[in-house]
Amino acid sequence: MAPLRIEKISCVKFVEASREQKYFVNITSDEVGCHCEDIGWRNHRTKVNIGLGALDQGCFRMGSIIHELLHVLGFEHQHVAHNRDEYVRIVWENINAENRINFHNNETYIGWNNYGEQYDYGSVMHYISNAFAKNISQPTIVALKTGGSKMGQRRGLSKTDVRKLNKMYKCPGHV
Ligand SMILES: [Zn+2]
Repeated sequence: MAPLRIEKISCVKFVEASREQKYFVNITSDEVGCHCEDIGWRNHRTKVNIGLGALDQGCFRMGSIIHELLHVLGFEHQHVAHNRDEYVRIVWENINAENRINFHNNETYIGWNNYGEQYDYGSVMHYISNAFAKNISQPTIVALKTGGSKMGQRRGLSKTDVRKLNKMYKCPGHV
């Protein structure tokens, strides 16, 4: 259970919404694919879709569900970090125009906070190297430093993910 996994390594607790509650996270399998409507809690009803599929594949992998729940908790994708150009090169010519928004890192509205942690190729929030590729045999994200083979892992939280989450929620023992 992905929520339990997150509870085990942090002070974050998931509580089932009551019928009276106006704002909550609706976790559903209504649609195809895995996605989340909002980054972080926005004080309204929000939706996370975990598309139905075989256990341990696609959205139904532990890491994929944790990935969506971390979006709800405030995590952005690792490859849109403001310092990402030091760590990855985006291959724009292999990405269709309508998908390029997924690679923009010029968001100034929410800003970027890395909680004092290094760029993490092994983050559960990192895209796979050929995410949204026009030609899937070619990458859309090229690592510029060592560790790039970890990109896109969906087994679970990396050590850096764990530290960031604990710092973000000011869990006991973390600054
Ligand atoms: Zn995502």
